[in-house]
Amino acid sequence: MKLFHWIRGPARPRGIRRGWPLLLVAAALWLLMPTVVWPAAYWFHGVRGRDITVCFAGNAVTDRSPRVQEIIGHLAQYKYAANIRFVSISGSPIDTAPISSLGCPAPTKQGNGNDYYNGDIRVAIPGTNVPVFGGASLVPGVGCTQTQGDSSWSNPPDELALRRSCQYNLVLGDDADATGTPYLNHTLHEFGHALGLAHEHARADENAQCVPAGIDGHHSITTGYITPYDKNSVMHYWWDASVVPNCQQTGSNYSQAGLTAYDKLAVHIMYPEDVRTVEFYGNTVLRAGETLQLTSAWQARGANMSFVTTDWKWVVDGVQRSTTPTLNLAGLAVGDHTLAISHKDFLDRTYTYNGKVQVLAGAEYAKRAAALAASQAMLAPIIAATNLPMVVNP
Ligand SMILES: [Zn+2]
Repeated sequence: MKLFHWIRGPARPRGIRRGWPLLLVAAALWLLMPTVVWPAAYWFHGVRGRDITVCFAGNAVTDRSPRVQEIIGHLAQYKYAANIRFVSISGSPIDTAPISSLGCPAPTKQGNGNDYYNGDIRVAIPGTNVPVFGGASLVPGVGCTQTQGDSSWSNPPDELALRRSCQYNLVLGDDADATGTPYLNHTLHEFGHALGLAHEHARADENAQCVPAGIDGHHSITTGYITPYDKNSVMHYWWDASVVPNCQQTGSNYSQAGLTAYDKLAVHIMYPEDVRTVEFYGNTVLRAGETLQLTSAWQARGANMSFVTTDWKWVVDGVQRSTTPTLNLAGLAVGDHTLAISHKDFLDRTYTYNGKVQVLAGAEYAKRAAALAASQAMLAPIIAATNLPMVVNP
């Protein structure tokens, strides 16, 4: 039985750097690949709310403020991908709050005498007055039973209460590339755990020869697949090419590549909008005789729908027409029709949409299409004028 759900980063082999030539070769091979295989897996340790308080333990905000600022910059990727707001203890967005306001406050006491540390994600970084990487030594805090470990890690969402008496619940090392720049993806990886994502490289459907056998729960994750397997996910470890010569990653936790399309999709699904609306693609204004073809946007973006969603209902004019993530309906008469869509997600949250479908006779459809084309033509010079001049490298 697994008692502790924190995750270590891989021991990075000393003296081995992924050089630029290798990167370029990998990038070139990537471009030549006929199909894109991208990853994201749910950790089965819950999700957090939309507003997530973040603070930095000890004297990080004074003694290591440039690094704190860098981490905050990295985290912006999550707010662009999903309905996630990292805020200070007092509720200001962390990217606009004064950095001095982002230190974790001193603990108060719980009823049982244990410490109470405020803040949902309490980040410890090396080079401060907070002990990290102490192996079996405990994280400071009266009542805390979390060990420090010897590399970066994060508690999952559902251990917030369990670790409330610990000074920190996420450790982020300074792991850096050959230029000494800390990896963007390293930040995204640990916060990915904090948001509820598991290790991509531990998926049983890993099929890119990117994972040495016997490593970190090798092929042990058999469910919770939000997207197809993604070797470039920020949640995927990186091993040297001498160990996995056929892998050719362009991302991974040791990378500056940022969230992949599937990483973004996974957190988008895990952290939906406040008002949960069915997201779908397709035209709801049709010419007479056309088939109504609508598809879940999550499916269109590649989500693993058999895990992610259930209970699909597409109801047109009060009649249920589909129970899958797509609707294909021919024979709608000219006129307006009601459209009601609903489904649930893997966390049993319900999404709905209520709108209408318009079916237009040929002449009316042509008139509207012409009006649309005319307005686009009118906008074209404005769009062209606001384009920035193209910069060509000498
Ligand atoms: Zn990890």
